[in-house]
Amino acid sequence: MLRINEISVGLGASAEDIREAAAKQIGVSAGHILRFEIFRESIDSRQKNNIRMIYSVNAETDLNESEVAARFLPNKVFIAETYRYELPAVRRNSAFRPVIVGFGPAGMFAAYILAQAGLSPLVLERGNDVDERTRDVTGFWTSGRLNTDSNVQFGEGGAGTFSDGKLTTGIKDERCRYVLETFVKFGAPEQILYSSHPHIGTDRLKPLVKNMRQEIIRLGGEVRFGCKLTGIYAANGFIQGISYEDKAGSQHDLETDCVLLCIGHSARDTVDMLYRAGLTMEKKAFSVGVRIEHPQEMINKALFGRFWNDPRLGAANYKFANHPPHGRGGYTFCMCPGGTVVCASSEAEMTVVNGMSEYARDGENANAAILVGIEPEHIEDGHPLAGIRLQREIERKAFLLGERYAAPAQTVGDFLNGVPSKRFGAVKPTCTTGAVPGDIRKVLPAAVTDNIALAIAAFDKKLKGYAMPEAVLTAPESRSSSPVRIVRDELRQASVKGIFPCGEGAGYAGGIVSAAVDGIKSAEAVLLDVPDDC
Ligand SMILES: Cc1cc2nc3c(=O)[nH]c(=O)nc-3n(C[C@H](O)[C@H](O)[C@H](O)COP(=O)(O)OP(=O)(O)OC[C@H]3O[C@@H](n4cnc5c(N)ncnc54)[C@H](O)[C@@H]3O)c2cc1C
Repeated sequence: MLRINEISVGLGASAEDIREAAAKQIGVSAGHILRFEIFRESIDSRQKNNIRMIYSVNAETDLNESEVAARFLPNKVFIAETYRYELPAVRRNSAFRPVIVGFGPAGMFAAYILAQAGLSPLVLERGNDVDERTRDVTGFWTSGRLNTDSNVQFGEGGAGTFSDGKLTTGIKDERCRYVLETFVKFGAPEQILYSSHPHIGTDRLKPLVKNMRQEIIRLGGEVRFGCKLTGIYAANGFIQGISYEDKAGSQHDLETDCVLLCIGHSARDTVDMLYRAGLTMEKKAFSVGVRIEHPQEMINKALFGRFWNDPRLGAANYKFANHPPHGRGGYTFCMCPGGTVVCASSEAEMTVVNGMSEYARDGENANAAILVGIEPEHIEDGHPLAGIRLQREIERKAFLLGERYAAPAQTVGDFLNGVPSKRFGAVKPTCTTGAVPGDIRKVLPAAVTDNIALAIAAFDKKLKGYAMPEAVLTAPESRSSSPVRIVRDELRQASVKGIFPCGEGAGYAGGIVSAAVDGIKSAEAVLLDVPDDC
C-alpha cells in the first residue's frame, strides 16, 4: 500500500478526481491505482478565491511500490503500514478487581482495555448516566439548580460530553488511531479517521459513551453511577482499599490493590482528600481567560472569501497565538465553530464557562477561549493546591459579579476602551445560563486581562474583524487544564503504590484523545505489573 501525500484538488472533487490526481502525483495513469482510501483530508484556504482540498491516500497499485516510493521524498510518497492496536499480555495475578474512579475518556478507555483483558473492572462515577445527566445539565441551565455531582464536568463520559467533541491532539502516539477507531466503532462518524479537524459534536457523543459503557459491561465490567470516591486506605505505602459514597449517601468500603484515578480537572474535593491522605502532588502550569464570540458568518467570510457559505466547507475554524516580547502572551483554545458558550460550573456559587457545539456546527456565533498561561512561579503560595485556590477565587468573583450563574460579559469595544459594558450590541452572547453586561477585569488578574487585550489586537491582524467592537467576551474560562499534578513514577504509580493517577485531572493529559491514550497506557501498566507485597 502506498501513502501518497499532498494531493491537491478543487472543492467538490469526486473520488475519481482524487484517484487521477493521486496517479498524476506519482507520474502514472489512473488505471494503475486499483483502489484507495482517504487517510487525511484538509482545507487549503490560503487563496480565498481558489480554495483547495488536500488529501493523503493509501493506494493499492499494480506497480512495484518500493520502486515508486524510492523516486519520491520520504514525506511525499512512502510504503504505508497499517496500525493495529494489540492488547498486551496479562501478567496481573490478583484476586482483586481493578477499581477505576471516573468515567471520562481516561476512565472509559482504561475500563475498555481491562474489560477486554478479562479483568472485570469496577468503575465508580460520581455523576449520573448520560441520560439523567443531560436532564441535570439542562435543568441547571434553565433553573440555576446545580447538581454538584452531575453537571457539565461530572457524569458519564466526563467533561467532554457536553463539548464540541474536537479530537485534535498534540500528542504523537499510535494509540490515538485506536482511540478514533474505537469512537467510530461506537457510533462516531467515519470522517474523524481522516479529517484534519476531527470532531463528533455533543449530540453524537452522548449515544457513543452509552454504547461504549454497554460493551464494557458485556465484557464483564461494571459501572456504578452516583458513586463518589471519598477515601483511601493504605499500609506500608501500598493501597489496601477505598471508601465511596453511593447515590443514597451511604458509605461503602472496598478492598482492592489497584485503583486508577481518572477523576478529571474539576474534582477538587477528591484531590483535597487524596492530598490529605498523603499522595504526593505538585503545582502545574495551567491557563485562564475568557470565551470570545463573533458572528460565524464573519469568520467564514474572513477565512473562506466568496466560498463563505459553501456547505462543503462547513463552519470555519481558527487557531491563533500571540507571543509579545515579554513572553506571557495569549492563545486561542478549544474553538467551537457555530457553537455555544456553556456554563460549566460544578461547585455551588462558582461560575465558569467553556464551549460546545453540535455536530452540524450551525449556530449563529463562533466562540473560542482566549487564554493566558499561569506558571507555578506566578502564584506566590507554594502549596501544591494553590492553583485550585486561584481558580476558586476567580470563579467566585464571577458568580458575585454575574447574577447567580449568569456569567459576567463585556463587548470587545468596551473591554479595549477599559469601560464596563451596560448592554450588548449586534453579537448576542450565548452563555447557557445567561450573560450580564459588566467589566471582566473585576474577575481576572490584570496580567491575564492585559495579555488578552494584546492578543485580540494581534489576532485582528491575522483575521480582519477579530477586534470588532460588538464581539463579546464572557468570563471566566478557568478550567482549561489541571493546576495540579498527582506525581507518578515510571510504572505510572502514585506515591501510594497500586494507585495509578491518569488523565487530565492527574495532570498528564489535556483533551479527550490524550486523556483516553493516558487511560489506555495506565491500564496496560496494570496488566503488565503488580506490587510484590500485596
Ligand atoms: C465544556 C467542555 C468542552 C470541552 N471540549 C473539548 C473538546 O472539544 N475537545 C477536547 O479534546 N477536549 C475538550 N474538553 C476537555 C476534555 O473534556 C477533557 O480534557 C477530558 O474529558 C479529560 O478526560 P478525563 O477522563 O481525564 O477527565 P473527565 O473527562 O474530567 O472525567 C473525570 C470523571 O471523573 C469523575 N469523578 C471525579 N471525582 C470523582 C470521585 N471522587 N468519585 C467518582 N468519580 C469521580 C467525574 O464525574 C468525571 O466524570 C472540554 C471540556 C469541557 C468541560
